[in-house]
Amino acid sequence: MAGQTIREPARELPVVAEADVVVCGGGPAGTAATVAGARAGADVLLVERYGCLGGLATGGLVIVLPPLTLGKHQVIGGIGQETMECLHSTGEAAYRNERGASVFDPEALKRVSDEICVAAGARLRLHSWVVGTFGEADHPEGVIVESKAGRQAIRASVIVDCTGDGDVAALAGAGFERDDRMIGLPFRVGNVDIERWLAGRAPDGGGTRTIHEAAREAAGYESYFGISPVDVEPGVVWGNNHMATGDFLDPEVLTRMEIRGRRAAWDALRVLRERMPGFEEAWMIDTAWQIGVRCTRRIEGEHRLTFADMQARRRYEDSVALGNDFRDPDLVYEIPLGSLIPRGLDNVLVAGRCISSDAEAMEPLREIHCCWTMGEAAGTVAALAADRNGSVREVPVDQARELLTDAGAVVDLPE
Ligand SMILES: Cc1cc2nc3c(=O)[nH]c(=O)nc-3n(C[C@H](O)[C@H](O)[C@H](O)COP(=O)(O)OP(=O)(O)OC[C@H]3O[C@@H](n4cnc5c(N)ncnc54)[C@H](O)[C@@H]3O)c2cc1C
Repeated sequence: MAGQTIREPARELPVVAEADVVVCGGGPAGTAATVAGARAGADVLLVERYGCLGGLATGGLVIVLPPLTLGKHQVIGGIGQETMECLHSTGEAAYRNERGASVFDPEALKRVSDEICVAAGARLRLHSWVVGTFGEADHPEGVIVESKAGRQAIRASVIVDCTGDGDVAALAGAGFERDDRMIGLPFRVGNVDIERWLAGRAPDGGGTRTIHEAAREAAGYESYFGISPVDVEPGVVWGNNHMATGDFLDPEVLTRMEIRGRRAAWDALRVLRERMPGFEEAWMIDTAWQIGVRCTRRIEGEHRLTFADMQARRRYEDSVALGNDFRDPDLVYEIPLGSLIPRGLDNVLVAGRCISSDAEAMEPLREIHCCWTMGEAAGTVAALAADRNGSVREVPVDQARELLTDAGAVVDLPE
């Protein structure tokens, strides 16, 4: 009966792999951590629960990226910039405004993410969930994974948690703040007459705000429904939305949201087809196959980055990355290594949409490009820690900053 407990018998687990660094989760943060760690000379194994890399930026159909620059200053360099240059060079990404925001093809990002990891010499283990850690309470010796092959162990000197939800740090005993914000289920529709739609949207074309609002209402999106052209895919429009808040670590809630999100996308499309100029022959290409969880846990780290710190442009001796803010294009801030180190754990780092911060600071931090740059920092520090019995606090910060800068990452605010 639900509510009762059972006792699972103890069992021996096979150790199926060993690595200097195990990166858990292959989204933007995990991909960058893997590449950076391998390029810094570590033997890196990336463990991902699904069958592709990219996380929400591929499976979640989150395909719009804020600018990597502020005027003449590079804000996000390194692996994030390299990835976008790769997509732009093949026409698989396009700039959507003069400030440098991009839209990209998620299938292309899957391919580029595979290639960049493999070329760096890292090993990938897809279709494997990280479900636990083992070893000392403050110094785990590795992670436990579950897959079609059963329950297995992977030994590693350093663990980098890039699961987005801070799953591994939490399993290892790190404290965290819950932060369940609006979930969404993006989608793409094809065969839209983009020119006619945009002409109709302009005020002198009659305006389409009421039709858009009718589509939002039909879908039941709580606060936000946006549609925009996917410039790299002719006739394709991307839908993004805010559905609801809830406990998004609970599979029952996630299941309800998947069903509701798919229904909502079709309800929105029905109204668009009936009433929006240019959408008469539109059809649903896909709804995201990875539900859009924006945030669940913020791990308690050595430093809790606050939005006030960001606004004050606070400088840190251990700054390992810069970030910016899609809501305020002029805001650029430093991200200290302390925010990537969970309190009480010796050989674990976190990167991505679960680092140590306050709720307001997480809003820009969780954007894809910031996750790339945090991942790159975590992977670099992890590689250096692997030579120091895994202890991330023993890594000379200046050496990490120098390695990152040499690799094209930006770690200091411009003067
Ligand atoms: C609806 C929506 C719209 C958004 N819009 C934008 C936008 O326009 N622009 C922008 O830049 N950002 C946007 N974001 C934010 C951005 O997409 C994410 O915050 C970013 O992708 C987070 O990167 P990450 O690597 O930290 O986590 P994720 O992208 O979530 O990647 C985590 C990876 O870890 C894997 N994983 C999770 N748990 C485990 C486990 N236990 N074991 C093994 N693997 C695991 C997952 O499968 C996934 O591949 C949006 C997010 C949502 C949800």
